[in-house]
Amino acid sequence: MERSMTGVAYCKEAKELLDAFADTIRQLIRLHEDQFQALVASDADSQRFDDLIHMANERKHNAKYAYMHHLEIHGCSTIDGTNQK
Ligand SMILES: [Zn+2]
Repeated sequence: MERSMTGVAYCKEAKELLDAFADTIRQLIRLHEDQFQALVASDADSQRFDDLIHMANERKHNAKYAYMHHLEIHGCSTIDGTNQK
């Protein structure tokens, strides 16, 4: 039987929120790499990365919450069939 009518299989907004979340994770990884390079190079200013990483972490948490909150109120999923009851 066709199951595509049982729920929203694809949601553009959820996809965009998930992409935004992935983006914050990439930024965080990049900052950690930059901090590591700065430490290896004995950059005296490497402390500034702690603030940048802290801010990037907050953006990541916000993006994750926005995505999960959207799924909760919208009942959708970006992946076909995996979030259907
Ligand atoms: Zn949605």
